[in-house]
Order: sequence, then C-alpha cells, then structure tokens
Amino acid sequence: MQNKVAVVTGGASGIGLAVAKKLNSLGCKVVIADFNLEAGGVAAEGIGATFIQADLSDADQCRSLIEQTTQLHGGVDILVNNAGFQHISPIEEFPIEQWNKLLGVMLTAPFLLMRYSWPMMKQKGWGRVINIASVHAMVASPFKAGYISAKHGVIGLTKTAALEGGEFGITVNAICPAYVRTPLVENQIADQARTRGIKEEEVVTDVMLKNAAIKKLIEPEEVANLVAFLASDQASSITGSSLTIDSGWTAQ
Ligand code: NAD
Repeated sequence: MQNKVAVVTGGASGIGLAVAKKLNSLGCKVVIADFNLEAGGVAAEGIGATFIQADLSDADQCRSLIEQTTQLHGGVDILVNNAGFQHISPIEEFPIEQWNKLLGVMLTAPFLLMRYSWPMMKQKGWGRVINIASVHAMVASPFKAGYISAKHGVIGLTKTAALEGGEFGITVNAICPAYVRTPLVENQIADQARTRGIKEEEVVTDVMLKNAAIKKLIEPEEVANLVAFLASDQASSITGSSLTIDSGWTAQ
C-alpha cells in the first residue's frame, strides 16, 4: 500500500484514529478529516499524517475535503467513511435536527465523498471504499432511530457502489462492528444508564454485551486490521460485502 492516498473521516478519535495509524504504518499517505480541530491536529501530528478540518454534515465541506486532498496528494485511492456519532432518544422525542445530522454525517457524507473521489479511482482503475457501518446496520435496538436508519442506509449505498465500481477495479465494502472501546461508547454508557434508569455497569453487561457470544468490548485495532485487509490487493474480489466484527451478536 506504499504511497496510496487514504482519507479517513473521523480520524481524530477511536476507530478512525486506529485506522489512520494502521494505514500510515503500511506506507499510505493518510489524510485525517475531522471537525475536531484540536484532536485532529494532535492525531495527525502524532502519526505524521495530514489533517484537514471538515464538518461532514456540510456538503460543501465534503467537496472541499476531496479537492484539498487532491491538491496535496494528487487524488484519493482509499476512502474510509468512519465519522459518526450517536443520539439516544425515544422516537416521540427524537429531535428532528439530530435525525438530519445523523443521516447527513453517516449516509450523505459517505455518498458525497465517494461521488467526488470516484472519477479519480475510475481513472486509475483502482479504488477502495470502506464504510464503517455497525452491527446496527443489520439489527436494531430501541432509542437509536437516526443512527440505525443511517447505518442500514449505508449498507444499501455500499452494495450499489460495489455494482457500479466492479468494472473499474473499485471495491466497496462495509464493516459492521458491535461495541468497540472508544469515546463514542464511553459516552453512550452514561446516556443509556440515564434513558433506561439503570447503573452504568449494567449498561455494559446487560445491554451492550447481552447478545455477544464473546463477552468483551472490541478494540479499535481489530477494526483497523480488517480495514487494512480490505484496502489491500489481497481483497480485490471482496466487494459489496458487509463484514461483521460483532462477537457473535448476529449469529443468533
Ligand atoms: P468516536 O466518537 O471516538 O470518533 C468519531 C469521530 O468522528 C470523532 O473524532 C468526531 O469528531 C468525528 N465526527 C463526528 N461528527 C463529525 C462531523 N460532522 N464531521 C467530521 N467529523 C465528525 O467514535 P468511534 O466509536 O470511533 O466511531 C467511529 C465510527 O464507528 C462511527 O461511524 C460509529 O458509528 C462506528 N461504530 C462504532 C462502534 C463502537 O462501538 N464504538 C460500533 C459500531 C460502529
């Protein structure tokens, strides 16, 4: 993967940061895109990557991210759509602006970033798009209407793009993890305890790991290793797939 240009959205933290580190260690020119200026700058400096600040809920900033990457590195070879967030609320109280933002960051941005990178990948006859979806792209849980709808949507986008990319050497896949030990999950533990009226320890054991055959949180590096494999030439026949890292959750 020497000198491949990789854009990792949400690369300032958690899974995205682990992916950025992994791809960087394999010789990619990594661009970390995130709206968190401070964390993004520190993350990029720490691994010798480039940081581009972008709020991916904004279509113009999605376009500008790909333009800036192209100016810097001449194109985009690997696009990892990872940025995301959660909002927990019952449907009747679900704020409409949160619904729109969840879909904007986790469904529309992956579409736009792919749309703008596509011509360059097509021209090279090689491209990789890896969408970090979720086990919640396959099954639902209560109080996460926006997140789960966006994640189910990104599976449809993955399949459609895979069909369009096949003849051009572009593969498009989704990774569907269960609970990974990141700041997003740490914040959810407190939110879920409040919404469900239970203790924080009970959120981990009784809610997050309830359906898992392996009773531990997943580490971000486990997801990063799968991203690296999907980005490699060894994975050139894997496309349109949704690969779970869910400790057996969806085996039931
Ligand atoms: P995280 O909160 O640690 O990192 C998410 C990053 O996305 C942050 O750096 C944040 O600043 C960035 N981001 C959020 N909104 C943005 C926006 N509008 N524009 C630009 N950047 C934005 O979360 P994480 O757990 O590492 O999650 C990464 C991805 O993995 C998300 O898509 C999430 O849905 C998915 N995922 C996480 C888990 C888990 O258990 N942690 C499980 C399944 C899927």
